[in-house]
Amino acid sequence: FGFKGCQKIRGPQIRSLLEAKDFFLFDCDGVIWHGEKAITGAAKVVSSLIRQGKNVVFVTNNCTRPRENYVSKFYRLGFTDVMLEQIFSSSYCSALYLRDVVKVRGQVFVIGCDGLRRELQEAGIPCLEEADDPDATIYDCALAPDVKAVLVGHDDKLTFLKLAKASCYLKDPECLFLATDNDPWHPLSGGRILPGSGSLTAALEVSSGRKATVIGKPSRFMFECISSQFSGVDPAQCLMVGDRLETDMLFGSNCGLDTMLTLTGVSQIEEAQEYRNSDLTTNHSLVPDYVVDTIADFLPAFEE
Ligand code: PLP
Ligand code: CA
Repeated sequence: FGFKGCQKIRGPQIRSLLEAKDFFLFDCDGVIWHGEKAITGAAKVVSSLIRQGKNVVFVTNNCTRPRENYVSKFYRLGFTDVMLEQIFSSSYCSALYLRDVVKVRGQVFVIGCDGLRRELQEAGIPCLEEADDPDATIYDCALAPDVKAVLVGHDDKLTFLKLAKASCYLKDPECLFLATDNDPWHPLSGGRILPGSGSLTAALEVSSGRKATVIGKPSRFMFECISSQFSGVDPAQCLMVGDRLETDMLFGSNCGLDTMLTLTGVSQIEEAQEYRNSDLTTNHSLVPDYVVDTIADFLPAFEE
């Protein structure tokens, strides 16, 4: 009792787990690749699962690219059988949320990269044109009258003016406040980090006194998108594979999926064990059911 989970599995145990599941959800950065470099063996794992007739989808909180960019990235990194329909990014799911759930009428003010804006436009969602005069300030800039949602994601061209405008739009209680994801930071090579969407969302939450609705992991919405696009998805038949306890493992728990932590990314097994041993039961949702060093550990299971 209280010490369930975090089971490090190998060889035959991996094989029976892969046989038992028919739907695999993979996080991308830290599981499939590190930035522009594929994790060794990952492409073979993905193609072997697909060849065995398993369903494979990718769930990424990276909101900076539209889905077709992921297809080309997968291809470039040696994943030659990944299709658009398998990709669920926080930008794509944000577009679905705005279009199908809240059916937004009016414009969306976006803090984010061009890729996010492109994904929204493909879904027919009007985004406010962002061509700020570099000398403009919040004292003299124009505010659009029909902004019905503010969507915040990773933005490498963030300006104080954008934050100020978003804060003004959020004064209207009818204006929705959405975040693509709430990731705090991302690892870069050489020990550097990149502040994540969550750090920008936090700034706006303080200035607006409001809480954003998060679309990406760990929110269940991404799984709802998957369930609505694949027929007969049974949570009991799914395995969520990720590298971050606070997003991927919690996402899996929130959706009723079995979870697997791979140690090629952000979280360490010691952190998972600490959550497991914690008296705070809410921490137990962050504990993976299974742990592997890398998804390349799946490879022997495909050998006859
Ligand atoms: N958002 C940004 C901007 C990133 O650079 C990354 C990782 O590189 C992520 C999110 C996390 O992506 P994932 O959910 O695939 O780990
Ligand atoms: Ca990740």
